[in-house]
Amino acid sequence: MRDYYQILGIQKNATQDDIKKAYRKLAHQYHPDKGGDESKFKEVSEAYRVLSDAEKRQQYDQFGRVFSSQGGPAYGGDGEQPSGWDFSGQGFDPSDFDASNIGDIFEEMFGFGMRGGKKKDLKKGQDIEVEIEISLETTLLGKEEEISLFKQILCSRCQGKGAEPGTPVNECFSCRGTGEVQQIHKTMFGTVTRYTTCPECGGEGFRPNKPCNVCKGEGRVKGEDKIKIFIPAGIDANQVIKAAGSGEAGRKGGKSGDLYIRVSVKKHPIFSRKGDDVFVSQEISFSQAALGDEVEVPTLDKTKILLNIPQGIESGKVLRISGKGIPHFQGYGRGNMYVELIIRTPQKLTKKQKELLEELNEEGL
Ligand SMILES: [Zn+2]
Ligand SMILES: [Zn+2]
Repeated sequence: MRDYYQILGIQKNATQDDIKKAYRKLAHQYHPDKGGDESKFKEVSEAYRVLSDAEKRQQYDQFGRVFSSQGGPAYGGDGEQPSGWDFSGQGFDPSDFDASNIGDIFEEMFGFGMRGGKKKDLKKGQDIEVEIEISLETTLLGKEEEISLFKQILCSRCQGKGAEPGTPVNECFSCRGTGEVQQIHKTMFGTVTRYTTCPECGGEGFRPNKPCNVCKGEGRVKGEDKIKIFIPAGIDANQVIKAAGSGEAGRKGGKSGDLYIRVSVKKHPIFSRKGDDVFVSQEISFSQAALGDEVEVPTLDKTKILLNIPQGIESGKVLRISGKGIPHFQGYGRGNMYVELIIRTPQKLTKKQKELLEELNEEGL
């Protein structure tokens, strides 16, 4: 679902011309003014908006899938294999989410296990999930962030092979290349023969003649890795960005795990967010409330906005400024900003203010 290439019916390597042509054709077909399907029209426009912009297209191509941690599809999913961003819980393919890997991480991090899942790929590196805290302002434009991780990385000395450079890798002596060894147990029912993973080679079937001096034959070492990710505009708390292949390096040249980056958003001192709308309170004096005025209100993007306070407004009234909220995630347009007006009652009065207020009081105000 939401594969922009599929929506436009084009190939991944389509040129800007192809994209334009496909869009024109479909936009014509679905245009609501011509009796077309409006939701299809929106979908097509959105796909075009992203793919026709070189930078946006690159982001879309580069990043794996983003899915809602809530599991429920945010936009609906039909189980198709997504090739770019994915927002739906369903698009998160459980078959490439190896539960045994997560188990290993939990064991490593918290000292308890969730083991029991079948090991599909003994050499594959573990997946990593990290959390990144971003500011509310970051959700306006998106931002490139660098994440520094201490994890298993490819051994640069042996390039993951596990052997000292220039030395051969031989068949394992213990298991004769099968990766398994026989264990014979004597039990009260008789002798039981079990095959288990060869402890010498870890099931590989071969061993380096001379293990790499740095990684001791593992093909990977603990080290620091810096990963650049792009936080897309409009992202909200608890969304997860997948950086495929940025998890832990595999053993002995095995496939790397994936990195999942869960987003959390820092509490803002004055703005709060609900959906793609932002809320802010603005104090006004009671003379401004009674007479009406123009006041400058703060905005997330720091643009100046003069808000027109109508005459005679009540405290607690909420005014809307459209299009000044958070950009819709991978969509177009922005949410709104809502300003709650709070009428301030003065705590300290000057002599003159006091006299004027007493006069107002006599006038019945
Ligand atoms: Zn062996
Ligand atoms: Zn090495």
